[in-house]
Amino acid sequence: MGYKVEKTDEQWREELTDEEYRVLREAGTERAFTGEYTDTKTVGVYNCRACGAELFRSETKFESHCGWPSFYDPADSDAVETRTDTSLPGRPRTEVLCAACGSHLGHVFEGEGYGTPTDLRYCINSIAIRHVEGA
Ligand SMILES: [Zn+2]
Repeated sequence: MGYKVEKTDEQWREELTDEEYRVLREAGTERAFTGEYTDTKTVGVYNCRACGAELFRSETKFESHCGWPSFYDPADSDAVETRTDTSLPGRPRTEVLCAACGSHLGHVFEGEGYGTPTDLRYCINSIAIRHVEGA
């Protein structure tokens, strides 16, 4: 399946830092409570750090206390895509990817009782997104 933004592995390695590459292109996870946007409340949008596509807005960011930026809905339902991730034995998770470039963003969890409008928690790596104030 093709993405709107397609780059070779070499290009991604050139454009991203090692840690960005590890998360975005190799589905890594930053350590909990270490990301720069975990507690950010500033109004604005969050774009994909790999391709710049708008993914989330500050209005849907909520305090989950899980250690990663958490959103209850994407900015646009077409902005992200999901697929089943079975990398942890016995516990399938739903992986969240940028719909424009296919980069890994994090995972989405359902029914945790956070009391948000969707009952979803998009658990996103800070390093996979870039905050743009006030947009
Ligand atoms: Zn992207």
